[in-house]
Amino acid sequence: MILILGGTSEARALAAALTDRGDEILSTLAGRVARPRLPSGPVRVGGFGGTEGLARFLIDHRVRCVIDATHPFAPRISANAVRATRSVGIPLARLERPGWSAATGSDEWSWVDSHAQAALLAAQFSRPLLTIGRQALGEFVTPLHDHPVLARVVDTPDIAVPPTWQLIHDRGPYDLDGERSLLSGSGIDVLVTKDSGGSYTWPKIEAAVSLGIDVVIVRRPVTPAAGSVVTTVVDAVSWLDSHH
Ligand code: NAP
Repeated sequence: MILILGGTSEARALAAALTDRGDEILSTLAGRVARPRLPSGPVRVGGFGGTEGLARFLIDHRVRCVIDATHPFAPRISANAVRATRSVGIPLARLERPGWSAATGSDEWSWVDSHAQAALLAAQFSRPLLTIGRQALGEFVTPLHDHPVLARVVDTPDIAVPPTWQLIHDRGPYDLDGERSLLSGSGIDVLVTKDSGGSYTWPKIEAAVSLGIDVVIVRRPVTPAAGSVVTTVVDAVSWLDSHH
C-alpha cells in the first residue's frame, strides 16, 4: 500500500492519479478542518501518535512507500515521516509545491522568519489583512490587539479574537478580481501571508502588488530533509514507479 500524508491540493491530485490507475493507496488527514475536501480513495482522519505511532502504523498496514504531501507549514508531520520511515526502512518522498520566493517582485516583500515577527511588522500599519491560517492567529493577538484587523480563516479559531477584529470565513481557490475588491474595499494597507506557494492563494499577492499594498510574508519552516523531494504530481508518480 502507498501512504499519502495529505491535506493539500497536491495530495488530492496524487490520490486521484493513483486511484485512477488502480494503485492501492491510503490518504491521511490530520482532522483540523471541520469539512475537509476529501481525496479519491480510502481516507483515514486523525494523527498517528507521533513518530512511533506512525512507524507502527507503517508496519501494521504493510505500507511500502510514503509520500509526504502535507502543507509546507506542517513541519511536525513531515519530521515524523522522515524519522518513522527511516526507522522501519520504507522509502519516503516529499511532494512539495515550490514557494513564492522566486516570484517576480518577491524581493520587495518583507520576508520574516516567524509569525511573531510578522505580527510586529504588521502592527506598524493601520489595517492588516491576515491570511496565515487559524492556528497561527494567536501570535497576532497581542501586537494587533487594537488594530481593526481583517482575518481570513476556513474555520472559526479556537482562541477569542479582539473585538476590533473581523473574521472572514472563506477558503480558496481565490481569483484576482475578488482579491482586489476585498483589499481595496476594506481599506487594507498590509497583507500578511505565509509562503504557501501554489496557485490557489496566489491572487491575493498579485492583487496587493497591483494596488501598491505592502506584503509581509513568513518564510517556510525548516524540516529534516526527506531522501527525495519532488514538486509535481507527475514526478511523484514517477518516483513511486521506481520505488514500489
Ligand atoms: P503539523 O503541526 O505538522 O502536525 C501536527 C500533528 O497533526 C502531527 O504530529 C500529526 O499527529 C497530525 N497530522 C498532521 N498532518 C497529518 C496527516 N496528513 N495525516 C495524519 N496526521 C497528521 O501540521 P498542522 O500545521 O497541524 O497541519 C495539519 C494538516 O493540515 C497537515 O496535514 C497539512 O497538510 C494540512 N494543512 C496545514 C496548513 C498549515 O498552514 N499548517 C495549511 C493547509 C493544510 P500525530 O503526531 O499524532 O501523528
